[in-house]
Amino acid sequence: MTKTLLIATHNRHKASELKEMLQVNFRILDLQDAGFHEPIPETGHTFHENAWQKCKTLTAHFPDYWVLTDDSGLEVDALNGEPGVFSARYAGASATDNDNVQLLLHNLQSIENRKAAFICVLCLCSPAGSAEYFEGRVEGHIALEPSGQSGFGYDPVFLPAGQTLTFAQMDSAEKNAMSHRNRAVTLLAQRLRMVE
Ligand code: IMP
Repeated sequence: MTKTLLIATHNRHKASELKEMLQVNFRILDLQDAGFHEPIPETGHTFHENAWQKCKTLTAHFPDYWVLTDDSGLEVDALNGEPGVFSARYAGASATDNDNVQLLLHNLQSIENRKAAFICVLCLCSPAGSAEYFEGRVEGHIALEPSGQSGFGYDPVFLPAGQTLTFAQMDSAEKNAMSHRNRAVTLLAQRLRMVE
């Protein structure tokens, strides 16, 4: 019998992108397909806690499905790992990407150590109740000012290690080839192929 993988997103684009990247023999549903419209709490202190919290909520509603959740963000060394799990709302609950970037640049003013990393944690819960995590990281630096128009979030100020362009100056294929999300998804795909 074909197994079902429920991906914890309402975003059709994200779901179909993941489907393409995974290439596994699962029926893949997003939250809209599954008819799930309730807010999912995300109050953890770490990426792992958030991903697990979301997985637990969905598994309780869909005990027969495999469930996949994710959490990601930016950790900056000189800011003790901030913005971390607060990446989306670093400059406040209704902050825009630009507000967050400006606050980050402000907080790093005159700081020489600009080392940072994007992290993506995926949590896969099985119908039998097990939870497994897959983590992808990309190391880099925070630029002195924003450059580039592509992507989202902190892309305009993130310079991956060994590169001269920010993520926002790369096209999506270039960014995806080295992104934290892609690295986590590659590990997940290997695991799912073992389940089939
Ligand atoms: P989410 O958990 O994937 O929703 O990501 C949370 C926040 O982390 C986003 O709103 C962005 O601010 C930041 N973030 C995560 N991944 C990226 C990325 O690939 N580029 C830029 N910012 C990112």
